[in-house]
Amino acid sequence: MRTPSRWQRLKDVVLSTDPRRRTLVGMALLALVLMMASAGVMLLVAHSDPATDPTFVQWWAAMSVGGLVVMTAFIRSGETVHLSDPSLTIPQMVWTITSGAVAYVLAGDARGLVPSVLAMILFFGTFGLTMAEVIGIGVYALVAFGCAIGVSARFSANPYGYLDTAYALMVMIVLGGCVALNLRIQRIRARLHEQRAALARALEVNRELATRDELTGLINRRAMQDLMELERRRNARSGRPLLLAQLDIDLFKRINDQHGHATGDRALQAFAGVVRASVRDTDVLARWGGEEFVLMLCDTQPDDGRELLERIRLAVAAMEIPHATGTLRLTVSAGLAQHLPGQPLEHTLERADQALYTAKALGRNRVVLAPAGTRPAAGAAAATFNART
Ligand code: GH3
Ligand code: MG
Ligand code: MG
Repeated sequence: MRTPSRWQRLKDVVLSTDPRRRTLVGMALLALVLMMASAGVMLLVAHSDPATDPTFVQWWAAMSVGGLVVMTAFIRSGETVHLSDPSLTIPQMVWTITSGAVAYVLAGDARGLVPSVLAMILFFGTFGLTMAEVIGIGVYALVAFGCAIGVSARFSANPYGYLDTAYALMVMIVLGGCVALNLRIQRIRARLHEQRAALARALEVNRELATRDELTGLINRRAMQDLMELERRRNARSGRPLLLAQLDIDLFKRINDQHGHATGDRALQAFAGVVRASVRDTDVLARWGGEEFVLMLCDTQPDDGRELLERIRLAVAAMEIPHATGTLRLTVSAGLAQHLPGQPLEHTLERADQALYTAKALGRNRVVLAPAGTRPAAGAAAATFNART
C-alpha cells in the first residue's frame, strides 16, 4: 500500500477521511475563503477612507468570518451529518446575507461592492437548495437589503440616491436569475435521477438474463456451473454426499413436431414447475440446454436421491398439458451420479450422462444410478432403477 503524501495527510486532517464529510467541509471552507476575501476588501476600503471609522468594519469582519469558522468546525466535527441540512447551507447563507446587509451600511460610498458579493452567495446556494428554500432565502435577502438600504439612507453622509435604487434592482435581478437557474438544476437532477433508475433496471435485467433461463425461470448452465463448483469445494471439506442428476424429456422432438413449438415451450415450463415443486429449497435445478436439465442434490444419500428422482418421474408422467385439441403427457429419463471427492465435476456429470444414456437405451421413462466408478467410461455398467416396478 502506498504511504500517503504530506499534502494528502494534511487534507485528511483538515477535511477528514470520510468522503461525504470531506465534500461538506470542502464547500464550507470555500465559503469561508470567499468571506475572508470579501472582509479583506472591506478592511482595505475602511483603512483607505479617512471618513470611515475602521473599528466597526474590523468588528464586522471578525464576526462575519468567525461565524463561518464556527459553522465549518461544526461540519468538520461530523455532528451535522444527521441533520436534514448537513452542509448548513441555509444557516451559512442567512449569516452571509446578514453580514452583507451590515456591510452595506458600513461600507459608505463603497456599498456598491456588496450586491456583487450577494450575487455570489445566492448563486452558490442555488446549487444545493430546493426551489422553496431559494425563494425563502431570496425573500430574506430582499428584506435584509431593504433594511440596509433604508438604514444607510438615514445615516449615510451621502443621502439615498439613484445608485441605491440600482443596487436594490440588481439584488432582485440576481434573485430572478437564481430562481431560473434553480429550476434548470432541478430539471437536470430529475432527468439524471430517471436515467440512473433506468440504468439500474437495465443492469438488473442484464444480470437476470446472464444467470436465468428466460423460458423456464430456472438458472442457466453458466450460473449452475458456478454453483456446482462452489458446492464441490464445500463437499471436499465436509465429505457430505453430493449428487448430480441429468434429466432429459423423452421424445420431445415429437411433441414439437406434433403440437408445435409454442406447445413445446409450454411443456418445458410445466416440466420445470413440476420438478421445482418436487425438490427441496436447497436442491438446485438448472436448464442445461434444450430439453435437458441438471439437478444438484446437496447432502443427500444416493438411495434418497434415486427415490426423489423417482417421485419426479411419476409427477412428470402424471402431468397433463392442455393444447389446441386436448392434453398431452410427458415422460422423463434421468441419470444420477454421486460426486466422488477429488474428482472433477465434469467426471460426475459425464457419469450422470452415461446413466441417462442407459435409461434411454432401456426404454426411457426411468431413473438410472451410475456406479460409483472412478472414471467415466462409455458403456459402463449402470445400476438400473426401473421405476415401473
Ligand atoms: P430422447 O427421448 O432421445 O431425448 O428424444 P428427444 O426427441 O427428446 O431428443 P432430441 O435431443 O432429438 O430432441 C430434443 C428436442 O428439443 C429438439 C429441439 O427442437 C427441442 N427443443 C430444444 N430446446 C427447445 C425449446 O426451447 N423449445 C422447444 N419447444 N423445443 C426445444
Ligand atoms: Mg429428450
Ligand atoms: Mg436431449
